[in-house]
Amino acid sequence: MDGHTIKKEITTHKLMSNCPVCNDDSSGKFLGKVNLVFGTEYNLVECLHCGAIYFDPLPSVAELSIFYSGSYYDFDKSREEGKGMAFARRLKRWKSIGKFVDLGCATGFFINGIKDHSDWDVYGIDFGESAVRFAREHLGLKVVQGDLADAHFPESFFDYVHVNNVLEHVLDPVALLKECRRIIKPDGIFFLSVPNGFNDSLDLIDFWKEEKKPARTKSGHIFFFPARTLQMMFRNTGFEIESKKTYSLKRGFRNIGYLPRKSNWKKICSPKESPEETAITEVLIPEQKKKHSDFYYKFRFIQENLLMIPGLHKFGLDFQFILRPV
Ligand SMILES: [Zn+2]
Repeated sequence: MDGHTIKKEITTHKLMSNCPVCNDDSSGKFLGKVNLVFGTEYNLVECLHCGAIYFDPLPSVAELSIFYSGSYYDFDKSREEGKGMAFARRLKRWKSIGKFVDLGCATGFFINGIKDHSDWDVYGIDFGESAVRFAREHLGLKVVQGDLADAHFPESFFDYVHVNNVLEHVLDPVALLKECRRIIKPDGIFFLSVPNGFNDSLDLIDFWKEEKKPARTKSGHIFFFPARTLQMMFRNTGFEIESKKTYSLKRGFRNIGYLPRKSNWKKICSPKESPEETAITEVLIPEQKKKHSDFYYKFRFIQENLLMIPGLHKFGLDFQFILRPV
């Protein structure tokens, strides 16, 4: 059976616009209804050409800014700085100095850890106004508020581009990858962590099937990229994969049914009942948790890496890639 025959059989939904990932204009597969802020409803669709799963139509900038107006920077300062310290060691083994940018840097504790433990020049970008203000005023970091294009970095500027759980939140993920390609040096490293869209979308799809109510995307994911979609996006934006890993296995097993779901999963997917509840609750200045020894953070970093398995697997919730420009 060729691709076109399959397409005819499962076409169920006329898309409001072309696929934002591959620009295909054919119909998509309807997977369910989803919700972002109070009173909104979107179709969750799967592009029959590239496999991307996304909100159709995409939310407006206004809806997204309502969603993020409360921010969600509940990062533990010591943990994030410890992670930065462990990351600095990895960077120094590669190059003693260089330029590093963290997209989605939040309050900046992670890059602050890198700055304090290496001679690397660090930059950050985040949407959250209050987080950016905190990073600048309290940590003295070079952080830009907005999206990557707003920063207007020069071409081939960075040795290391770090993008951690951002791609699934933005309105134009392909433009984001292209901009990363533009600002990275020809021998640079692009670190990308992104949910496994196949696994990450299962809660929303199952909630819709069981409850017949739109499922709320709790962390604001509006795109869900299966492995093959990501691989196509990297090829089309000028990157090749150096390594690929799967992690968050326990949560992934729950979504796929290998382990029982947490009892409150439906509550998490339930749309909010009033406009006031719609934004993510703000926890800007994180609670100061216990500070551990340097050894502890190094150990945690190694441990986290040991819990990742090589390759891209449907049963894991998250992927981590090391990409190189081509
Ligand atoms: Zn597509």
